[in-house]
Amino acid sequence: MLLEEIRKKIVDYGNQLISSGLTIGTAGNISIYDPETGYMAISPSGIPYAQTTPEDVVVMDLQGNVVDGKRKPSSENGLHAAFYLEKPDARAVVHAHSMYCTTLACAGVDLKATHYAIADTGVATVPTVPYFTYGTPELAAAVRECLRGTDSKALLMANHGMVAYGDSLEKAFAVAMTCEWCAQVEWRAMAISTPNVLSDEQMAEVIEHYKTYGQAKEDGKKSQGYFG
Ligand code: 13P
Ligand code: ZN
Repeated sequence: MLLEEIRKKIVDYGNQLISSGLTIGTAGNISIYDPETGYMAISPSGIPYAQTTPEDVVVMDLQGNVVDGKRKPSSENGLHAAFYLEKPDARAVVHAHSMYCTTLACAGVDLKATHYAIADTGVATVPTVPYFTYGTPELAAAVRECLRGTDSKALLMANHGMVAYGDSLEKAFAVAMTCEWCAQVEWRAMAISTPNVLSDEQMAEVIEHYKTYGQAKEDGKKSQGYFG
């Protein structure tokens, strides 16, 4: 089976999308990019994560052609490809309809530095992509345009959900978890008061500190924040 190991990893993390509470049902999707072949492996469309096998995971090129696999690929394959085409360091993408990020994205409220942990995204305010129908080239193009103008490792998508990327699936998943936790804190803070949002200067300092958070990584990779 082509790219067997990364197809197994997508199955594993699909189950974690559910067990972590980041998504429910068949919403959301996951991909990994393999720089050696130039292909990405992506979760199939509409198959419950618990039932997905490595054979169900679809291998595609970044132009939207299926290279290996019998299943229909995720409807968001163009959106995932946008990350790999736009960000040379992107190796994995996690998209989720996580409750609190999605709530903010439906209310038109930015995911801000209400809590400093948002530094895990590399920015103080996570950009929101305007609304386009799910699974369309228009949504993928809007995501790509948004990525072009930001260093953020995560985006909200209006009236839809969130999407995060990283130099590994572990990192992309950790950023998704961070965003969801921060979105919940922001929502709760808004419920009782007006959140005290940290300044750009305060956040610049945290972002710098965060690069060396925790133990030095043997593989030289950067901190995975609080969810690594
Ligand atoms: P897929 O099941 O096709 O991946 O779609 C889920 C989704 O979240 C669409 O945006
Ligand atoms: Zn979606």
